[in-house]
Amino acid sequence: MKPSLMDYTQKELIDIIKPKFRVKQIFGWMYHQYASDFEDMKNIPKSLKEELASKFVVNPLKIINKEVSTDGTIKYLLELQDGKTMEAVWLKMKDDSFDEDGKLIHEARYTICVSTQVGCKVGCSFCLTAKGGFTRDLTAGEIIAQVVTLKKDNNHKHNRKINIVYMGMGEPLDNLDNLSQAIKIFQEEEGLAIGGKRQTVSTSGLSSKIDKLGEMDLGVHIAISLHAVDDELRSELIPMNKAHNINSIIEAVKRFPIDARKRVMFEYLVIKNKNDDIASAKKLVKLLHGIKAKVNLIYFNPYPGTDYDRPELKDMVNFQEYLVNHGLLCTIRDSKGIDISAACGQLKEKNTNLNN
Ligand code: SAH
Ligand code: SF4
Repeated sequence: MKPSLMDYTQKELIDIIKPKFRVKQIFGWMYHQYASDFEDMKNIPKSLKEELASKFVVNPLKIINKEVSTDGTIKYLLELQDGKTMEAVWLKMKDDSFDEDGKLIHEARYTICVSTQVGCKVGCSFCLTAKGGFTRDLTAGEIIAQVVTLKKDNNHKHNRKINIVYMGMGEPLDNLDNLSQAIKIFQEEEGLAIGGKRQTVSTSGLSSKIDKLGEMDLGVHIAISLHAVDDELRSELIPMNKAHNINSIIEAVKRFPIDARKRVMFEYLVIKNKNDDIASAKKLVKLLHGIKAKVNLIYFNPYPGTDYDRPELKDMVNFQEYLVNHGLLCTIRDSKGIDISAACGQLKEKNTNLNN
C-alpha cells in the first residue's frame, strides 16, 4: 500500500515535493479539481509526476457501490488500496430555497458522515459495525479522501460549505493520531478549508482521549454517544463503559474546550423497554446539569438478529417533552436514508465480505 499525498498537511508536503511552488499547485489539483491521479495534473512536469507516482498515490479510494435513498441520502461503499471496504454517507440536510420569483436564495446544505476505521473494537451490543469485529485503522488520507470522493461524485464545488460528522464505521478516538491529522488537513486554507466548527467527532466515550483531543485545541465539536444514564445498562450496551464510566465521561466533557456559543451534543439511542422511560429522562436531566448540552434522541434501528426493539413514537415524544420541560435542548434525529440503512453507525454492508 503506497501512502497517499492526502496523508500530509501542506507544510509536510513542502519537505517532500520540490520546488516548493509545486505543492500549492498539487494541493489545488487534489482539493479544488478533485484529481484522482497524477495524470490529471496538467501543469505539473512529467518527471515530477513520475517521481511522485513511484512513491505515492493521489486518491486512495474507489467507489464500488452506491445506494440512493428516496430522501436524497447516498450511501457509498468505498474500496481501499488493500481491497478492504468501508462506507461514507452523503446527507442532504436542507433543500434549495427559492424566493417568489423562483430565484435561488439558499443552496441546499449537505453533511458527509465519514468512517475512521474498518470495523470497530468497542463492540457495542446494538451496533452493526461491531458485529464484524475490527480490521484496521484508516489513515488520515483515507479519511480525507472520503470527503473529496463524495464531493466530486456530487459535483459539489470545493468552496461550497460542507459539514463533516465522524459517525461512520469505527471509534474516531481510538484512531486519534490519524483523526487529528485529518482534522488539520481538512482545515487547510488552500485545500478544502473546512473549519473545526464544521467538524463533529462522535465518540462512545473514551474519556482519556476526549481530554487529549481537547488539549489539541482543534476547534472541533464533540458528540457523546451516551445512550444510558446508569453504568449497569451502559456497560451492557457499550462494554468499554467499565473502563470509562459515565462519571469519567461527564468530567472529561466539562474540561473540553468549546466555543461559548456552542453546545456539546449527547446522543441517546432509545431502545424499547430499556432506556425509554421517564425515570431515565429524569436521571439524564440531573446528569447533564451544569453542562451546555443538547440531546439528540435516536430511534434504535433494528436489524435481523438483534434482541432490541425500536421504541414507540409516544415514548420518544414523552421523553423529549420531559427534557425540554426541564430546560434541556432536545431533538429527535430524523432517520435519514432509513430505506437504505444509511443512518450513521449503521454502516454494515449487506455484503458478507465487508471487513475482509
Ligand atoms: N463510534 C462512534 C461513532 C460512530 S457510531 C460512536 O459510537 O459515537 C455513530 C452513532 O450511530 C452512535 O451514536 C451510535 O450509537 C449510532 N448507532 C449505532 N447503531 C445504531 C442502530 N442500530 N440504530 C441507530 N443508531 C445506531
Ligand atoms: Fe463502535 Fe460506535 Fe458502533 Fe460502538 S456504536 S461499536 S463505538 S461504531
